[in-house]
Amino acid sequence: MRGILKHYEALLPLGPKTPRPDLGEGGTPLVHLPRLGAELGIDLWAKVEGCNPSGSFKDRGMVLAVAKALEGGARALICASTGNTSASAAAYAACTGLPCYVLLPAGKVAMGKLAQALLYGAQVLAVRGNFDRALELARSVAGEGGVALVNSVNRYRLWGQRSAAWEICDVLGDAPDWLAIPVGNAGNITAYWSGFVQYRRLGRSTRVPRMAGFQAAGSAPLVLGRMVDDPETVATAIRIGHPVNASKARWAVRRSDGFFEAVTDEAILAAQRDLARLGGLFAEPASCAPLAGLRLLHSRGELPQGIRVAMVLTGNGLKDPDAALRNAPTFREIDDTREALLEVMGK
Ligand SMILES: *Cc1c(COP(=O)(O)O)cnc(C)c1O
Repeated sequence: MRGILKHYEALLPLGPKTPRPDLGEGGTPLVHLPRLGAELGIDLWAKVEGCNPSGSFKDRGMVLAVAKALEGGARALICASTGNTSASAAAYAACTGLPCYVLLPAGKVAMGKLAQALLYGAQVLAVRGNFDRALELARSVAGEGGVALVNSVNRYRLWGQRSAAWEICDVLGDAPDWLAIPVGNAGNITAYWSGFVQYRRLGRSTRVPRMAGFQAAGSAPLVLGRMVDDPETVATAIRIGHPVNASKARWAVRRSDGFFEAVTDEAILAAQRDLARLGGLFAEPASCAPLAGLRLLHSRGELPQGIRVAMVLTGNGLKDPDAALRNAPTFREIDDTREALLEVMGK
């Protein structure tokens, strides 16, 4: 069901006076992928977070962060973003009537996400620096004059994002064996883990999954075990060298007997294309790191066979058509005649 403040009211920190913004977030499809699963020898499912109102999972946490900001008397929102956080913050700012400032790394944001923030009416500021710098800046003014910071250092963001783990358990009847997820600022992997643990404690599931976190090779601080000052990857949503939730994510991975792994941009784009071609799902590059990672493990003989894996397709492919087209098949132009059409169709 859509609208997570309503649907999961009892599991969220909501009081009688908390405002309830609602853009119909959550309740996203969990899609079975038999063709890709067969190739890997696993029972593969995809949580299609691109179906959220602003096109990424960020809406799950943003709706709660904005509700709590309003409850606390906030007069404006601010965030730093690789794109999707700003799109989501701007959307909820629009529907609640709050001004919104978004700080983006100049020149490094996918076109669709930039268009969203602008059209939702946010004040968009391109910072001459990378995401990590933009976040430092946003943090430095948060709290002043009723400006609420809605980055994932805001605890309500991660709380709301737990709802995706709850939904997976609700649909499958229990947690999967593995949860495969892209990792940037490392908030979402942390949120999923909290959500799975909470559900087991409540008796709504019987187990928790192994957490498999995938990063882009050029931006893989959690795989390398050290921060990266100049992260670079086609997957701009995970182009983060200093993840603010790094220690929580490490803890989640350790507790779940999971791991972090890195995948190349080439593998990410190949996974994006095959997810579309063999699964019918169009996800942005960052979202395809898990599939690239599962394939990598399979090629090394390290993917257990027959397990049930849920992978998180964090954002919609339409947000970044430029990246997708780098690796796309080409099209042909033809004359506007029936003969020309039949010729290319091989008739
Ligand atoms: C934000 C985002 C991520 C990374 O999530 P973190 O919580 O920062 O690790 C991955 N994919 C997409 C599409 C995102 O928008």
